[in-house]
Amino acid sequence: MNTIVCIKQVPGTTSVEVDPGTGVLKREGIEAKMNPYDLFALETALQIKEVKGGAITSITMGPPQAGEIIYESFYMGVDEGYVLTDRKFAGADVVATSYTLSQGIRKISNYDLIICGKQTTDGDTAQVGPEVAEFLGIPHVANVGKILNIGKDSITVQMNMEETLEIQSIKLPCLITVEKDIYTPRLPSYKKKIQTKDKKQLNYLSIKDFTDSNEQNYGLNGSPTQVERIFPPEVSKEKIMLEGTSEDLSEKIFSLLVEKKFM
Ligand SMILES: Cc1cc2nc3c(=O)[nH]c(=O)nc-3n(C[C@H](O)[C@H](O)[C@H](O)COP(=O)(O)OP(=O)(O)OC[C@H]3O[C@@H](n4cnc5c(N)ncnc54)[C@H](O)[C@@H]3O)c2cc1C
Repeated sequence: MNTIVCIKQVPGTTSVEVDPGTGVLKREGIEAKMNPYDLFALETALQIKEVKGGAITSITMGPPQAGEIIYESFYMGVDEGYVLTDRKFAGADVVATSYTLSQGIRKISNYDLIICGKQTTDGDTAQVGPEVAEFLGIPHVANVGKILNIGKDSITVQMNMEETLEIQSIKLPCLITVEKDIYTPRLPSYKKKIQTKDKKQLNYLSIKDFTDSNEQNYGLNGSPTQVERIFPPEVSKEKIMLEGTSEDLSEKIFSLLVEKKFM
C-alpha cells in the first residue's frame, strides 16, 4: 500500500502582513511550521503502513525552505519526500496549487492512496484535496474521521458530517482528507533524526519536470482568483440593552440575529 501525503508549510505566527496590491501573504523571513492538520494526515499514513506495509511519500509545494517539513516527516517515519518548487509557482491560488500538486503526483506516480489534511491554518479553504483528486481523475472523500477497512481494491471510511456519520467505500487509487483527531499524531523521533540526518535526500521538482510545462497553468498566471479587498475583521463594541419578559427578549434577540444575518 503506497501512500502520498500532502503537507504544507504555514506561518508559525498570526502577525503576517498581506500585500495590499496582490492580496498575497508576505511570507519572507517569518517563522514557519508544518500545517498542524497535516500531522493527522501523516499519522493516518503511518498507521496504515504499520498494518498494510508499503511506502509513504510526503510532498509539498512551496519555496525551497518548505523542505524543512519534509525532513520533519522523515523523522516521523516517512520514506521519501518531494518539494515542488519554482519561482513560476509563486502567487498560486487554490486551483493553481492543486494543479501543481497533481502534476507532481503524476510524476511520482506509484500510489494507491493520497492523504491530505482537513484544511490549512493560513489559506483555510479545505479545497486543495478534492481539487487535486479532480485533476488526477480519481475518486475522493472528505471529512474522514475513521478508516474502517482497507481491501485489495477499495477503502471503507467513516465521514464525520456536521450532524451525521456516513460510511463510504471507494475504489483505490483515491484521495481522502482526514479530520483532526483521526489518530493522535506521534512526535518526531530523535533516533530517526540521527538515522536520517545527511542520509535521506529531498527530491526537488520544478515546472520542467512536469508533463505539462506550460507556464500559463502555474502560479499567478494559472490562478483565476482575483482578490478584491483584504481587511482585518471589523470589531464592534456597540451594545444594545433589551427589556421585557423572557418571551419578548427571546423574540427580540431572534429578530436581531436574523437582521444581522447570523441566522
Ligand atoms: C491570488 C492568490 C495568490 C496567492 N499567492 C500565494 C503565494 O504566493 N504563496 C502562497 O504560499 N500562497 C498563496 N496563496 C494562497 C494559496 O492559494 C493557498 O494557500 C493554497 O491554495 C492552499 O490553499 P489552502 O491553504 O486553503 O489549503 P487547504 O485546501 O485548506 O488545504 C487542505 C490540505 O491540502 C494540502 N495542501 C494545501 N496546500 C498545499 C501545499 N502547498 N503543498 C502540499 N499540500 C498542500 C494539505 O494536506 C492541506 O491540509 C494565494 C492565494 C490567492 C487567492
